[in-house]
Amino acid sequence: MLAALRNAVGAAHVITEGDRSAWERDWRRRWQGSSLAVVRPGSTAEVAAVVRACSAAGVALVPQGGNTGLVGGGVPDNSGTQVLLSLQRLNQVRAFDETNLTMSVDAGCVLQTLQATAAARGLLLPLSLAAEGSCTIGGNLATNAGGTQVLRWGNARELCLGLEVVTAQGEVWDGLSGLRKDNTGYDLRDLFIGSEGTLGIITAATLKLAPLPAATTTALAACHTLADCVALLSLARRRLGAGLTGFEVMGRFALDLVARHFPTLPRPLPTAPWTVLLEQSDTEGEGPARERFEALLGAALEAGTVVDAVVAESLAQSQALWQVRESIPLAQAEEGLNIKHDIAVPVSAIPGFVERADAALQARWPGVRLVNFGHLGDGNLHYNVQAPPGEDGARFLADEEHAVNAVVFDEVARCGGSFSAEHGIGALKRDELAARKSPVALQMMRAIKAALDPQNLMNPGRVL
Ligand code: FAD
Ligand code: ZN
Repeated sequence: MLAALRNAVGAAHVITEGDRSAWERDWRRRWQGSSLAVVRPGSTAEVAAVVRACSAAGVALVPQGGNTGLVGGGVPDNSGTQVLLSLQRLNQVRAFDETNLTMSVDAGCVLQTLQATAAARGLLLPLSLAAEGSCTIGGNLATNAGGTQVLRWGNARELCLGLEVVTAQGEVWDGLSGLRKDNTGYDLRDLFIGSEGTLGIITAATLKLAPLPAATTTALAACHTLADCVALLSLARRRLGAGLTGFEVMGRFALDLVARHFPTLPRPLPTAPWTVLLEQSDTEGEGPARERFEALLGAALEAGTVVDAVVAESLAQSQALWQVRESIPLAQAEEGLNIKHDIAVPVSAIPGFVERADAALQARWPGVRLVNFGHLGDGNLHYNVQAPPGEDGARFLADEEHAVNAVVFDEVARCGGSFSAEHGIGALKRDELAARKSPVALQMMRAIKAALDPQNLMNPGRVL
């Protein structure tokens, strides 16, 4: 099989020796796998040839883009029998249609590069997350990534009009249409989006673009309670409509960690229990946008919903505010291992959820520290749990993760929420999915998996 792989992609792109940890270890350093080979095809035809070679030999494939996933889905297991299929050499923009507002791109293109490519043409690719400098569009679609602009533009799914996929049989499905309407049978595109490499390999996508906004303004607002943050969200929605493009919340401890580990970043507002980062994008110019924003914050200050607020004066200031928000995951990683959650509940249920989950965790693990932040506008929190001060993070993670998850996910379920809002299932939450998803839904998922990947070679052991 290795000979067939070398024949398909060239010997230089079949790596079987040396340090492969860049592909075999995940971003969080929670999983260290061992692959039979790392294979780096350079075209869709080469991906198809690799899949056929693996299928003939009965060897499993783990697709990988930028290896920034947070649930252990993109690294091989430690059996030494799986082929790691890196999509990173598929990195060309294939076509641009400025009138149709679309671009077709290879799966291995880095998200930030695509944002810049679109911006150079006056267009916006409205997908944005802290990993954008390394994650790939294929990985974003395979995990149906969310990020900071979902409030206005939706998840990766909503930004994708078409896909090219190499099936588990090594055939190529060209579904790269740029159509906004196409009701010709089952939606295969939506089946592959969010499938985390378990149904086939995404090799290219047609993405939906929008005109670049004429002005983008950012503000910070400090609130005493989460209920006030939610009230501010309602007010901002009413006043700014579709102009509201970001609404992120940061708890005090999350900001303390950023201040501790990135002391050069600004801290423009004195600490409050909660800080909201709001972003407004406007098709009109800077002036009217800023006036509307200031009027909104003025009204919120007067109502007592907000206790302090600041509007960024320049693009540089605005970027610095976003940098603070985006540094939270990194600051957390610096602080030590922690138990990550990526939960969603209806926005209206957020304050009650946090109050009850905090109380339950404190009662059982006194002093436990909650790194709570996230996409409040979407009802999605990264409700992360760090060991009490002085306790070893690794021990806490190893011994308490299961029990902590049970407390948090039971509360999520009581609120009608999801235990995985945007990061996916991967290896980390597979057992949780089996335990918490409805049996009818699981049965349909298993039927789809068996139909499309009867040999169970596409990222086996992930998701299901
Ligand atoms: P990888 O990590 O390489 O792979 C992820 C999964 O997709 C794996 O199961 C893999 O097998 C599969 N896969 C990858 N490429 C393909 C392909 N071409 N075809 C089929 N399957 C494929 N996520 C959010 O949703 N919102 C956030 O705000 C967010 N913030 C993050 C911040 C940081 C600092 C980090 C490190 C991660 C964050 N993430 C976030 C996680 C997010 O899932 C990933 O960053 C991104 O979407 C994955 O892209 P990737 O190319 O790195 O995929
Ligand atoms: Zn997130």
